[in-house]
Amino acid sequence: MKRDDLTGFAGGGNKARKLEYLIGEAIEQGADAVVTCGAIQSNFVRQLGAACRMAGLECHAALMELPFEEGVEPPRGLLSNVTGNPQLNQLFGVHMHIYVSGHWSDLYRRAEDAAEALEGAGKRVYRVPIGGSTPLGAYAFTEAAGELNQPFEIIVTASSSGSTQVGLAMALPGTRVVGMGCDPEPEIIYDFEALSKACAERFPQFVALEAKQFEIDFDAVGPGYGVPSELGQRAMHWMAQTEGILLDPIYSAKAFGALMKGIEEGRYSGKILFWHTGGVPSLFGMPEDALKEPGLG
Ligand SMILES: *Cc1c(COP(=O)(O)O)cnc(C)c1O
Repeated sequence: MKRDDLTGFAGGGNKARKLEYLIGEAIEQGADAVVTCGAIQSNFVRQLGAACRMAGLECHAALMELPFEEGVEPPRGLLSNVTGNPQLNQLFGVHMHIYVSGHWSDLYRRAEDAAEALEGAGKRVYRVPIGGSTPLGAYAFTEAAGELNQPFEIIVTASSSGSTQVGLAMALPGTRVVGMGCDPEPEIIYDFEALSKACAERFPQFVALEAKQFEIDFDAVGPGYGVPSELGQRAMHWMAQTEGILLDPIYSAKAFGALMKGIEEGRYSGKILFWHTGGVPSLFGMPEDALKEPGLG
């Protein structure tokens, strides 16, 4: 297991790697405010908030409790919009602009509105898309791949905005990099293709990958983005009680749950690395009884 839950920055998680480069670019461009968006339990917003304050930048985030894709049923949420990540956002001085749940496209528009309002007030704004998935964010994960001291046949990671999977896959063309989808959105591979192309344009030492080269497994998505799934919750209990390692309900538990299922079904075998992407603070945004052992009532 690769422990990005232990990156050690602002509660840990994979976003620390992207921020090293994104904040560098914000400073280079002379920004004084950073604007992004996310779900209320976004780990990216939490870590971005801390990184911004350290660099003397204002951090603004447009947030919705449970944004969803157009054309799908809005998922019914279980997670708190007060405790967990949003509580830490307050500690890190994030300006949270919270909206009623709607489509992702509405959330992106809200972020753009916030950016324009800040510009109207004379600020120089650095815009960061959801999850920090820009070419620089993906580049951070090509660097991360260089930390491995041995080859693996399969690398498994939770995958959502994409720069984690895209960066690892671009850096390790001989390895099967499997993204465990956390959003019920098979077309996401086309976003990954576009991100990979933009990353290879900026960093020509890497070759861009096509949509069909990204392997995504949607087995553990469950009721939708941001809503715990049965497979994920089982994996969370198993990991806690076998290894004493915490997984989060939105990403890493679903990823490990899909991996366990795939191993049982013979789809994944050989030397496998599970890339733990963090997210542990969202455990504290779960309702009191949500962590009871499944079946023990
Ligand atoms: C953001 C996040 C992911 C997904 O990473 P992407 O690069 O956005 O695909 C996975 N796990 C956790 C805990 C995250 O916070």
